[in-house]
Amino acid sequence: THFGFETVSETQKAEKVKKVFETVASKYDLMNDMMSGGVHRVWKDIFINRLRPGRKTKLIDVAGGTGDIAFRFLQHKETLPNCSSPIRFTSPLDSIPSKRPENEVEAQYQALGNSSPEEENNRSVVVCDINDKMLEVGRTRSLSILTPDQLRRIDWKQGDAENLSDIPDNSFDAYTIAFGIRNCVHVDQVVREAYRILRPGGRFLCLEFSHVSNPALQWIYDQYSFQVIPVMGQVMVGDWDSYIYLVQSIRKFPKQEDFKYMIQQAGFRFVTYENLTFGVAAIHSGVKL
Ligand code: SAM
Repeated sequence: THFGFETVSETQKAEKVKKVFETVASKYDLMNDMMSGGVHRVWKDIFINRLRPGRKTKLIDVAGGTGDIAFRFLQHKETLPNCSSPIRFTSPLDSIPSKRPENEVEAQYQALGNSSPEEENNRSVVVCDINDKMLEVGRTRSLSILTPDQLRRIDWKQGDAENLSDIPDNSFDAYTIAFGIRNCVHVDQVVREAYRILRPGGRFLCLEFSHVSNPALQWIYDQYSFQVIPVMGQVMVGDWDSYIYLVQSIRKFPKQEDFKYMIQQAGFRFVTYENLTFGVAAIHSGVKL
């Protein structure tokens, strides 16, 4: 496995990824806006539109970081008529003691109290990330972005996308992973875990940086990636290396067709992808039958 300009082992890659996101956590959202000129917001909006969540969709957003996808999911406007169900929603994670920081943010979450049976029937989301620091930033952000009702329907969980063994099979209606899968050591294992925890009929959606096919655009994109992004990383968070890593990890991620094949190999059907901004990013999706 390559890391930056050096060759590193799989364990080293996992450790390095952990360190990268610990370093950038507090400025992660600002950096995203600066580096993409805000375009990541448009891509994430399109991503949630493609998911088209229903009123009762139960989502797990893996590598969910500071919650961008989960917040959009909870805020997504529903166009279908309200059809309430007498079945009470119970999260597959209810039986698992969740690890949460003992602090002001936790106190505010606890003050929200329990949801009413009607609220529990609404769509809900678990944000899962390997990095506690990213989750902590997300939890704090959530208090100023979400309504009390929405806050009661979001859960934060530390976990590794490659091994979600404490989540039972067939647990979720939808699985999303945005700009996270390329950071994992075994991408195929991540997709297999997604397949396992989705219920039959459940949907897998992945938003990830991808590959531009036009050579002229590729040249411009390369200049930006190698000349501008690391400089921004150095100026904003004093960390050149982390941003060189981000650029390199994008280059090493499988091309659109190869990743599509990997998703099919995990068992998903109706696998398709859609390029965003000429392939700078792509949305891959599949269904578990
Ligand atoms: N999904 C968020 C977004 O779109 O803004 C965050 C994306 S951020 C670029 C990548 C995230 O992947 C980080 O929060 C990092 O901690 C997480 N991550 C890296 N390896 C992981 C793994 N093996 N399991 C779960 N999360 C992981």
